[in-house]
Amino acid sequence: MQVGRDRFLEAAPEALDNYINHSCSPTCKVDFDEQALVSITTIPAGWELTYDYETTEYDLESQGCAFSCKCGSLHCRGRIRGFRFLRLPVKLALQNKLSPYLTEQLEIDLKQAADSPVFRAGK
Ligand SMILES: [Zn+2]
Repeated sequence: MQVGRDRFLEAAPEALDNYINHSCSPTCKVDFDEQALVSITTIPAGWELTYDYETTEYDLESQGCAFSCKCGSLHCRGRIRGFRFLRLPVKLALQNKLSPYLTEQLEIDLKQAADSPVFRAGK
């Protein structure tokens, strides 16, 4: 999981983290303060624990880790490339699930949008 521009938390080889799949409609999110995976919905017994990788990874494309999602959600985003590549409305919809590093990136995106001539013309 990405915690800075060039900093990542690496799970131990036997850690459960290595087996948690991505979903565009996840059952969990990563709580970075508690360093825990927490449920964000009621999870019936037998359901898979998942989280949204684009809430923790800025650029999966440059890491060679982008993938075509097969989560089956009605809200599936298709190609999972990292937070960097999401449109601003999608980034805003994910706001309460983002890692601290991606929260900083969103603040930069919002400042750039506010400074853009197109945005200012719309005021
Ligand atoms: Zn998906």
